[in-house]
Amino acid sequence: MGTRVANTERDSQQAASTNCDVTIIGGGLAGKAAALHLAKAGLQVVCIEPGELRRQVVGESLDWSAPALLDDLELPMEHLVGERSATWKKHVTLKTRDGCAEHYEPTPWLAGPPFHIELRTLHVDRTRLDDELVKKTIASGVNMVTEKVASVERDGQKLTAVRTERGNRFCSPWFIDASGFGTSLLAREFDLPAISFGPAKVAMWTYFPATEASEGTTLHMDPAESEYLEWIWEIPINPEWISVGYVATGAAIKMKRESGLTVDDIFRQQLEKFPRFAALLQNNAVGEMNVTSYRCRVNDRVAGPNWLIVGEAASMVDPITANGVTAALRHAAEASELIAKYRDRGRLPWRARFCYNARIMQLAKFFNGGIERIVYEPPVRNRLGMGRSGTVYTSPAWSMNVVYARLQPKGMVSTFLFGLSLAVFRFGSWLTYVICKRRSNVVAAAH
Ligand SMILES: Cc1cc2nc3c(=O)[nH]c(=O)nc-3n(C[C@H](O)[C@H](O)[C@H](O)COP(=O)(O)OP(=O)(O)OC[C@H]3O[C@@H](n4cnc5c(N)ncnc54)[C@H](O)[C@@H]3O)c2cc1C
Repeated sequence: MGTRVANTERDSQQAASTNCDVTIIGGGLAGKAAALHLAKAGLQVVCIEPGELRRQVVGESLDWSAPALLDDLELPMEHLVGERSATWKKHVTLKTRDGCAEHYEPTPWLAGPPFHIELRTLHVDRTRLDDELVKKTIASGVNMVTEKVASVERDGQKLTAVRTERGNRFCSPWFIDASGFGTSLLAREFDLPAISFGPAKVAMWTYFPATEASEGTTLHMDPAESEYLEWIWEIPINPEWISVGYVATGAAIKMKRESGLTVDDIFRQQLEKFPRFAALLQNNAVGEMNVTSYRCRVNDRVAGPNWLIVGEAASMVDPITANGVTAALRHAAEASELIAKYRDRGRLPWRARFCYNARIMQLAKFFNGGIERIVYEPPVRNRLGMGRSGTVYTSPAWSMNVVYARLQPKGMVSTFLFGLSLAVFRFGSWLTYVICKRRSNVVAAAH
């Protein structure tokens, strides 16, 4: 099948009908990245994004694997830092309220032969990054349509068209669902099974003027022995601003709201517990608050005969892992590659669908399952201490991301082998959790 030029005509119901090679639902990070990859591969792409509200997008502290994926979109780290759209991230610091601090950073010898691993990553100003990505996407010939997809048309498992709220119809042989966590359009349409991790959570965040340069993300916490973890992020998104956010369970926030507190009150009260923020609040008014709720989960069967789901519509990875952006960019690159590879065939072979789905499932289980058991739930962190628990989670997580980037699993064998190594770590984290929980039960019984 050759590349067709998009054309608009009237269908029998008088709605405009647009034909192209690939229709992308959603123009967030994953949607734009997929659009750019596909346009570069010579396909005619329509990307439908309502963009009605200027949402404050999150995803500001990037994992070490994200820069190479941004590089593939011609957004190298030096350029982003030079444009003041990003700052360097060289470490993560975990600070507890009692004054303890633990630093996590890749060991310097990994930068040398034979590994040659990049020891820096980025914090990004998502508004500036996304604006730059939109410009690139449009310049590459992608047709960005400001509309909202309301429904899909299908023939069994195969999609044939999508319809927008205004009644316009978009037909193509291929589709990508990048509609994000809240919409998850195709997961709902096909009623896909999903696995959830941990409780529903709420994040609230705002921005403060930066007072000092920093090359790391700081996570502030005050872990209580019997409670699920709450935490605060501090991310220098550009030289002028820092992003500060508070994450807690939906149940905890609901209780506070029911006691009459506003979102501003809750945020301020939480920050005031830490001397770092008490000083910040003294000198600055709390800016406009952003609030979102989510529950970490992964959908199963995220690839159909002529469609793939990418980004948070496929899997929602806990923000504390800083893996959402990497996942979104990875899905976008892999889904685009599959479409470019099989476009003449008109459908994805089952092997390709199986492997794509398996990789998303395995990584989501590894990151979400690990962070829940080792860091969020009390037994392991009570036993090992917060700092050591952080190391127990961070080391395999960082290593597995590096291995994924190097191995680039695609076929059955590499996907299986990679999945097997993730399963070993998952078993390890499960075993650690079980042992620590038993011991804490024994101690509790003895008292
Ligand atoms: C509180 C929080 C903090 C986070 N922090 C980090 C972090 O520090 N580091 C990190 O790596 N990741 C982080 N993440 C994750 C990261 O933000 C996301 O993984 C990433 O931005 C996902 O991009 P996406 O394109 O999949 O989804 P989105 O950015 O949600 O994009 C989906 C798009 O689809 C559009 N859409 C929705 N419905 C329709 C429809 N019907 N028709 C057409 N379009 C539609 C929406 O308008 C939206 O633009 C965080 C997430 C949260 C919730």
